[in-house]
Amino acid sequence: MTTIEDNLRQVRQRIELACARAGRDAAQVGLLAVSKTFGPEAVRLALAAGQRAFGENYVQEGVEKILALRQSDPGATIEWHCIGPLQSNKTRLVATHFDWVQSLDRLKIAERLSAQRPAERPDLQVCLQVKLDGGANKSGLSPQDLPALAQAVAALPRLRLRGLMCIPEPVQTFDAQRAVFARAQALFEQLRASGLALDTLSMGMSEDLDAAVSAGSTLVRVGRAIFGQRPSPV
Ligand SMILES: *Cc1c(COP(=O)(O)O)cnc(C)c1O
Repeated sequence: MTTIEDNLRQVRQRIELACARAGRDAAQVGLLAVSKTFGPEAVRLALAAGQRAFGENYVQEGVEKILALRQSDPGATIEWHCIGPLQSNKTRLVATHFDWVQSLDRLKIAERLSAQRPAERPDLQVCLQVKLDGGANKSGLSPQDLPALAQAVAALPRLRLRGLMCIPEPVQTFDAQRAVFARAQALFEQLRASGLALDTLSMGMSEDLDAAVSAGSTLVRVGRAIFGQRPSPV
């Protein structure tokens, strides 16, 4: 068994345990393997271990990996998620190559993705990134701006709004982590109550996925616990 295969098994077990503790069905929580900074070979090993959804932060790096995997594993069904900050000059690459964008926080970017999604591809699946703790240097929109942007994005052609994503500032205890995630869950439920058909609440990473699952996460994004420490601090 490869290290990545073993790590994936442990992460899946962790998710199952967190679900059991929260009284949730483990089938409701997906796993996004965050492969940023790791090469195509790491993705291939995870793919061989049954992992299908991968997250990338840096557009250029992600596109290179997408193309490499398309060449080496043309028959594989892989779902590629863009989870990093998005600039206007990168939207065409994202619209062309990715399946999901989780880091949407501005209408201008959404409009560009909508206009640039190639006709032959299925709708681009999107989540809005919400900022929960006012961290100055993190992307994401503020909760009060969320309802208006959600309605506007839901109305755009070629995009399908699926839900919310958040990256809280690291805090130490389970209860403190859970309190922040619970705010995301409340915002998610408010949007659903307003009539939007959302099914994805993307939250939880290597350090805090247990708290995220207990607060209703439907997709955890895990990098280091699967692929190991990243070479550079990101
Ligand atoms: C890097 C990253 C992750 C994964 O973080 P780990 O601590 O390696 O599990 C998840 N989500 C986003 C948006 C990231 O940038």
